[in-house]
Parts: sequence; structure tokens; C-alpha cells
Amino acid sequence: MAYRFWCGECGFKTGWGGESQSEQQQTEHYAKQHPGVPPGGQVEVNSKNPDGGLGCFGLIAIAVLLLILAASCHR
Ligand SMILES: [Zn+2]
Repeated sequence: MAYRFWCGECGFKTGWGGESQSEQQQTEHYAKQHPGVPPGGQVEVNSKNPDGGLGCFGLIAIAVLLLILAASCHR
């Protein structure tokens, strides 16, 4: 899971990252840009892998396993 915090005061968004990591970026942004304002805004959650590789890799791994199984059955 990747999290991105959107500033409630301006158009700032943190980068994608872990929940605590992004929350810290948001807190730092508020401390710098909106001193005295409690951190607010929205949290965007991405359930997919932000790098996009893992889901595809899993499918390939299953396909390769099936191929190996099929090949061993023919012997
Ligand atoms: Zn802001």
C-alpha cells in the first residue's frame, strides 16, 4: 500500500510512500508552509504496487511454474 497526503491549504501533495513516511512529509510541509495550522487535507491510498512490477511478476511466476509442471508430466 502506498499513501500520498494532499495539503488542505494549498495544492501540495507528498510523494508516494509508506503511511508514516508520507504523513511525516505532510507534517513537515505544514510546519514550513502553514505554521500554526494543524495538518489536514486528504489521504490518497494506492493499493497497487507503486512500481507496478510485482503483480505482473506474480503472474509470470505462476505461468513458469505451470510450464515446469506440464513439462515434468510429459516425461
Ligand atoms: Zn500546503
